[in-house]
Amino acid sequence: MPHSRRTSTARLDPRGPLVLDTRALPRRPGSARTETRTVPAPADLHTGMAGIPEGSDLRLDVTLESVTEGVLATVTAVAPVTGECARCLEPVAQMVEVRCQELFSYEQGAGDADEGGYALDGDLLDLEPVLRDALVLALPLAPLCRPDCPGLCTECGALLARAGPDHGHERATDPRWAGLRQQMTQGEPVARPAPEISEESGRGRP
Ligand SMILES: [Zn+2]
Ligand SMILES: [Zn+2]
Repeated sequence: MPHSRRTSTARLDPRGPLVLDTRALPRRPGSARTETRTVPAPADLHTGMAGIPEGSDLRLDVTLESVTEGVLATVTAVAPVTGECARCLEPVAQMVEVRCQELFSYEQGAGDADEGGYALDGDLLDLEPVLRDALVLALPLAPLCRPDCPGLCTECGALLARAGPDHGHERATDPRWAGLRQQMTQGEPVARPAPEISEESGRGRP
């Protein structure tokens, strides 16, 4: 099959970390090549609470296969994810793995973006848009530091994982807590009349 539609001037930079050269792949349907590479993760791979740090190791296993219409790329990518726990806001570090498959057609369509299709640029193909979509979709929307993270105390904001299962606030039974609570909410209007106990406890205003 002639490749008359190949562009003479490649727009892609062959040295780009996510640009693959398909020259070594015979243009015969069924031919395949596999390669593994670790590249620096591109910028802006994040959602609200989690992301892949720019420049971190993105490990790729790529299989390129000649098919009649072009080159089929099958990619497994593994990358580190950092973020904040959705319940307790502590740092979260985990790995994300995605697998995606995309056809890069020989023919440059009227518009490359039509129907979400991709095309080869000369002998080159750019995995970045494919990987970007797959990785961002795979990021956790509400990352957790651990599956059973108990979150923060709604009363005082304490980290419940550290405060222990006995942590709690006895309302109006222990006057010492009442005094402490009053101290913590200073500056906010208090609807209830302040109890006298704050003087007794020695924890009231100085
Ligand atoms: Zn947590
Ligand atoms: Zn608390």
